[in-house]
Amino acid sequence: MAIGKVRLITVKVLRNIAMLFRISKIVNRALFPRKERSARTALAIAATLFSLFLTTCRTNQMNNSSKPETKVKANEATDALTIHRNAITIDMHADTTQRLLDESVDIDRRLPDGHFDAVRAREGGLDAQFFSIWVEPQLFGGSGPRAVKRADDQIAAVRLLAQKHPETWKLATSAMDVRDSSREGKIAALMGLEGGYAIDEKLANVGRYYDLGVRYMSPAWSVSTSWAGSSGDDVGKERGLNEFGKEVVREMNRLGMMVDVSHVSDKTFWDIISTSTRPVIATHSGCRAIADVPRNLTDEMIKAIAKSGGVVNVIFYPEHLEPGYAEKKKQVDAEIEPLVQRASAAEQGDVVQKKLARDRVRREEYARRLPKVTVARLVDHIDHVVKLVGIDYVGIGSDFDGVQATLSDLSSVADLPNLTRELLRRGYSESDIDKILGGNMLRVMEAVQK
Ligand SMILES: [Zn+2]
Repeated sequence: MAIGKVRLITVKVLRNIAMLFRISKIVNRALFPRKERSARTALAIAATLFSLFLTTCRTNQMNNSSKPETKVKANEATDALTIHRNAITIDMHADTTQRLLDESVDIDRRLPDGHFDAVRAREGGLDAQFFSIWVEPQLFGGSGPRAVKRADDQIAAVRLLAQKHPETWKLATSAMDVRDSSREGKIAALMGLEGGYAIDEKLANVGRYYDLGVRYMSPAWSVSTSWAGSSGDDVGKERGLNEFGKEVVREMNRLGMMVDVSHVSDKTFWDIISTSTRPVIATHSGCRAIADVPRNLTDEMIKAIAKSGGVVNVIFYPEHLEPGYAEKKKQVDAEIEPLVQRASAAEQGDVVQKKLARDRVRREEYARRLPKVTVARLVDHIDHVVKLVGIDYVGIGSDFDGVQATLSDLSSVADLPNLTRELLRRGYSESDIDKILGGNMLRVMEAVQK
């Protein structure tokens, strides 16, 4: 055979090996328990490689070299699913943690409600979930022992997942853990503190939470802390980071805990940017240029995050994605207030159960009264970030189980492949999609680690 021909065959065999690995990852996840996988995979790969080599030679002799590619492209849906499953997908923010505590749900089973469980996560090709450790200050205090306990209880619940179901979950704290977990066909469980209430205004607690496995923290949720302003209240309009707040950011940098700017006030945002020496991330935010709400990021903020080497993880929540949605929701909130209060009063349980009752009414009424928003709008935000700063600074943060309304075609973690379908439709390449779904965040996690 001529040298050129040998080279062509080698390239084809290598391409086929790459395709095989992808297929074997999917087949393995779906069919085989972990222990049997490596032996079966090795056998299957050896046998198939030999036959592929023969096929490639035969195909080449027949001068019909373009067949395998045409076959893959002919079935676009399979192609999108293959690309999706081959990528390491990391969701930077879900509030399922509170369901584990307050509703005692078993997320290893398919749940009839909510947005997340392990069964649907596997269907959606999810590799890693950052569980939000969210302390609601109105119910548990903006600092103090109750806030600390609430965070500690949630952390214990996430850690218990991996203890109770090691075949499904792997507790993870690093990019390497996420890659290992994905290779093993498990879902990596990671944690981030939403709001710094639980550090109880003590620097030593940042290290304590790091040691418990927490790998990001936003200084404030919708209520300002004494040391950091929030985008959700009037105090935050004037408040940035005070000296203690800056110390907290420096301590996070030192430990290797990512600083999350989702929910903080504009002033706090810029104080974080000028204080942090490591990449800064937004775990679940949108673009203010499209949906003008204080929770979202301005173009200047997006540029500053990219300049730090960080990532903007776009939220899936319609209120932060669809222009005008927030105003309509405000109107609906006023209309349904009596219904919401009635449900709360009728609930006999504690404050948490009453909150669940209020949220149930909101979920039903929003579905009935608010406009339908699709995954295309989410991709508008991704497009905006990419056009502004490039493909290396965008990711995803669903906010599943933390919101009472979802995109119509991305209403649970099982629908994640619809995002990849839309990205492909818009012309993103496989390597672009890898970066958006998790590759960019793996880079940041590696950069921030000690
Ligand atoms: Zn949030």
